[in-house]
Amino acid sequence: MLFDKIIFGPIKSRRLGTSLGVNLLPDDCKLCNFDCIYCECGFNFTKPNSHLPQRDEIKKALAEKLLEFARKNEHIDTITFAGNGEPTMHPQFADIIDDVVNLRDTLCPKAKVSVLSNATLIHKPKVFASLQKIDNNILKLDSAIEETIRIVNQPVTNFSLADTIEHLKRFEGNIIVQTLFFKGNYNGVAIDNTSDIEVEAWLEALKKIKPRSVMIYTLDRPTPAKDLYKADEKRLQEISAMVENLGIKTQING
Ligand code: SF4
Repeated sequence: MLFDKIIFGPIKSRRLGTSLGVNLLPDDCKLCNFDCIYCECGFNFTKPNSHLPQRDEIKKALAEKLLEFARKNEHIDTITFAGNGEPTMHPQFADIIDDVVNLRDTLCPKAKVSVLSNATLIHKPKVFASLQKIDNNILKLDSAIEETIRIVNQPVTNFSLADTIEHLKRFEGNIIVQTLFFKGNYNGVAIDNTSDIEVEAWLEALKKIKPRSVMIYTLDRPTPAKDLYKADEKRLQEISAMVENLGIKTQING
């Protein structure tokens, strides 16, 4: 399912509460440098004449929406960068973050600003600096085994797990790790990132990254790859307890 607007919602998010979405990607295709087999937008596809929304359009659309909420006295918990792909790929990402933080401060000061990102571009100084300006810097780490990431997230550009972990460490705790746990089969390969070996490696990575908290969740919507299944609720609870034992807060959304 694609988001067909720049500003969408607000939706009741399992993880973030009442969330007003900002889609920086085209509204008729998906643009991401991962191609996760569970992505709710489907597998990557482009269209020749797709329009990437520009900074001014985004600023105008968000300002109108926030003014409308202010008039109606409606409350939102967060303005969330999500949508049809990876928001940090937008060439004006840094400027757009500045605009959104300013609009939030002026029109909706109680709301948080959240970015859901796959962390592939955090090595870029501008992306790194922008993510330091927001409230919820939510970065994906579905596995700490590179082979699993290649199957589950299908990076479409150069990817190194070791480098990613090093860059995640540079946030010095100002990061929320998001991990989607599930099981299944894809192209004849069995996947289970809830297994002991997976969780052990992932916990070791968390020890290095020292995130502020971890969002643990599982499948909730139809997936482009078939034969994928939710993680057991009991296993999610066990994984959460192991993270809490490291002194890191968790949030489970089964
Ligand atoms: S990183 Fe996010 S947008 Fe990109 S393919 Fe994965 S789930 Fe979809």
